[in-house]
Amino acid sequence: MTVVGAAGAADAAGEWPADLDVQALLESGWRPTPFQQFVLKIHSRCNLACDYCYMYEMADQSWRRQPRRMARPTIDRVARRIAEHARANGLSRVEVILHGGEPLLAGVEHLRYAVETVRTATAPDVEALFHVQTNGVLLDRVFLELFDELDVHVSVSVDGDEEGHDRHRRRRDGQGSHAAVTTGLRKLTDPAHRRLFSGLLSTIDLANDPIATYEALLKFEPPAIDFLLPHGNWDTPPPGRTPDFPGTPYGDWLIEVFDRWYRAPVRETRVRLFTEIIRLLVGRPSQSEAVGLSPVVVAVVETDGGIEQVDTLKSAYAGATVTSLHVARDSFDSALLLPRIAARQIGHRALSVPCRSCTLQRVCGGGLYTHRYRSGSGFANPSVYCPDLFRLITHIQRTVAKDMTALRRSRQRT
Ligand code: SF4
Repeated sequence: MTVVGAAGAADAAGEWPADLDVQALLESGWRPTPFQQFVLKIHSRCNLACDYCYMYEMADQSWRRQPRRMARPTIDRVARRIAEHARANGLSRVEVILHGGEPLLAGVEHLRYAVETVRTATAPDVEALFHVQTNGVLLDRVFLELFDELDVHVSVSVDGDEEGHDRHRRRRDGQGSHAAVTTGLRKLTDPAHRRLFSGLLSTIDLANDPIATYEALLKFEPPAIDFLLPHGNWDTPPPGRTPDFPGTPYGDWLIEVFDRWYRAPVRETRVRLFTEIIRLLVGRPSQSEAVGLSPVVVAVVETDGGIEQVDTLKSAYAGATVTSLHVARDSFDSALLLPRIAARQIGHRALSVPCRSCTLQRVCGGGLYTHRYRSGSGFANPSVYCPDLFRLITHIQRTVAKDMTALRRSRQRT
């Protein structure tokens, strides 16, 4: 088994990357990149029941065994581990994301405890920047005053207009959540708190008109929008995406938004997927795990204190995120050498054979790791969204190249 970083077929030990030889990687000169983002699953339940949720509605049902809320002694341990990791690796800044489930269900005092405990452990030499990722339903003045006081920035999940949003993002009784989210967003975008607004996350539904969706999101004047492809893989394809079918429904949807965004007379917002692709096209590294080959530097701590991988992997198969490490016993440094985590940090060596011969491999990077899963070969596959990614990136490449050529010509004339 010791073909360093070969993302080929699975071996008897299991699916790729179970056979990744981390020791051989180290001997070849590879070094892990320290974690810089820590996702704290501060509350493991949710007040919504979105039908596409990777936490509750897909392959992994481990949330059922998690405590509802991260206990204070667990928060104390996480804080010490974050500080230990930052200092051991010479980091002067880390990001901490309060996540769930729905993190606001943890309550104001519990969130205060989490932020203050981490900051006490990391001060004075390591700055801890805080974000909260919420569905927005509970966002009120009390939470916003807390976030203002503690400088916690807020991202909200919204899927577009009321019809598009409420098709999926519903309460347990079937009622839509758009009205409540809009109320929360109005409070967040009030001048008193607007500085805390990081942006919107929006999961694509092909049934929604792309321009109407984008413009519905723009009404909140978000500093950034993250369009997310619905989670799926080769075994459980996303809605409207038939594996091995060359159609590009998601690529076409995103191209409509890209053209609307790119051709706007003023820059209305930052669309992270598009700016990342443009950055990569001009030779800069990616800052998101959706595209590119940069090392993934995110560690997740489950509500019970377990150290896990990025939680979207829960959509692949039960246990896909689990590491067997726990903040009570293990450092984050020890997680860096696990094959599952190292596989996210070895760039092109983690690509499948088809991706390695793809002209867009450096920009696409095989797409989001979660979307590459196929039972038998594990994550050694192109993205299930491969044709969509190829179409979108090619379109952006052509558009930007055309503009750059026109700009060069106009400069030569003057
Ligand atoms: S476009 Fe397809 S083949 Fe090319 S790198 Fe992306 S997933 Fe791989």
